[in-house]
Amino acid sequence: MIYLETPKKHRALVDQVHQVAMNMLRPVSRKYDLAEHEYPKELDMLAAMADGLDQSGASEGAGATGVRRSADDDTSNKNGSNMASALSVLEMCWGDTGLTLAMPRQGLGNSAIASVATDAQLEKFKGTWASMAITEPSFGSDSSAITTTAKKDGDAYVLNGEKIFVTSGERSDSIVVWATLDKSLGKAAIKSFVVTKDMPGVKVERLEHKLGIRASDTAVITFTDVRVPAENLLGNPEINVQEGFAGAMATFDNTRPLVAAMAVGCARASLDLTRDLLAQAGVEIDYDKAATLQHAAAAKFLQLEADWEAAHLLTLQAAWMADNKKPNSLEASMSKAKAGRVGSDVTLSCVELCAGIGYSEAELLEKWARDSKILDIFEGTQQIQQLIVARRVLGLSSSELK
Ligand SMILES: Cc1cc2nc3c(=O)[nH]c(=O)nc-3n(C[C@H](O)[C@H](O)[C@H](O)COP(=O)(O)OP(=O)(O)OC[C@H]3O[C@@H](n4cnc5c(N)ncnc54)[C@H](O)[C@@H]3O)c2cc1C
Repeated sequence: MIYLETPKKHRALVDQVHQVAMNMLRPVSRKYDLAEHEYPKELDMLAAMADGLDQSGASEGAGATGVRRSADDDTSNKNGSNMASALSVLEMCWGDTGLTLAMPRQGLGNSAIASVATDAQLEKFKGTWASMAITEPSFGSDSSAITTTAKKDGDAYVLNGEKIFVTSGERSDSIVVWATLDKSLGKAAIKSFVVTKDMPGVKVERLEHKLGIRASDTAVITFTDVRVPAENLLGNPEINVQEGFAGAMATFDNTRPLVAAMAVGCARASLDLTRDLLAQAGVEIDYDKAATLQHAAAAKFLQLEADWEAAHLLTLQAAWMADNKKPNSLEASMSKAKAGRVGSDVTLSCVELCAGIGYSEAELLEKWARDSKILDIFEGTQQIQQLIVARRVLGLSSSELK
């Protein structure tokens, strides 16, 4: 049985993270939105606190590495670290999405490592801050089109290629790079490698200027004859044509619910502020009265909140399934598709409801509308999630439904 409400065991964590988001992220939100590419030094203390909580066990496994699925054979219903991570990232993004994405040692690459690394690799890369590099100049959505190459040479792989749009690409100290061992063998030959920034041949070429999440750096990185130790290949080095892309794609089953949770958190921030601003303007939202009998702004708010709730529940479901070792590719994509769309719709609708105040920099509503859009784009766009959902529901393969 799934109870889709905040699990009791995680309520203290949610409260704590909410306080952090309110008192440490919100006060510097606008500052780092305006100072694009400036490192948010306030995050160092926060990251140290998160590390401490992690080591003491008080964070209940929340964070980028919380997506690792436990190997125990306990079949009891549990709310574990996937749920804790989703709930805490939701609260953090209620504070600020860009700053959350810029948190040291909480990169998407950390989640990728946690998802597929062996225990020995997990130990080796403990404490690293890892970004994730899949996208290249020649493709975005179609990750099977990877052209970055990894050629085996003795006890190392030699990587060559260019990656674009790498979140935290400048600030991270390692990068999980997707590369092909042999392009002629298709998707099965695509593997991921942990490349550290100090390896000769790694070069951050430039940073992007962006619509939103400006506190987060987005880099172009080139790899020229980079020698990566063979043990830095994550997962199975064999090219298993039967398995195809499934191994590499498993990462997304864990990370998509997290991105969905980010969208849910950012949208919640917009709803909370909008409710306050509407109240100040004399519009009260009455949950006991039909929407059609209320002020048009209140009726719109209720509709947005209902949509938000659906996204919220789908996100919790996808995280719960990961904690309970249930295959969740369908639900992970559903949550990402729904939350990505709802996040953009809610944040922009809140700007509309608050009109002049919503659009001006006096409040953060306009920033949240800009920040939320990326959550409907990276880790698979809205359209790609819908494609995956359709394939799963109809039982069609990627070659049958493109
Ligand atoms: C700020 C930012 C941060 C990012 N961070 C990272 C990162 O850390 N690591 C990383 O590897 N990448 C990252 N990305 C890249 C991101 O994942 C890609 O932008 C995304 O996958 C889309 O690729 P694209 O931009 O090339 O668009 P395209 O793939 O060219 O898509 C263009 C449009 O066509 C649609 N489309 C494409 N294929 C289909 C189809 N088969 N059916 C229907 N519609 C389709 C898309 O949904 C989209 O609307 C980031 C991007 C940005 C902007």
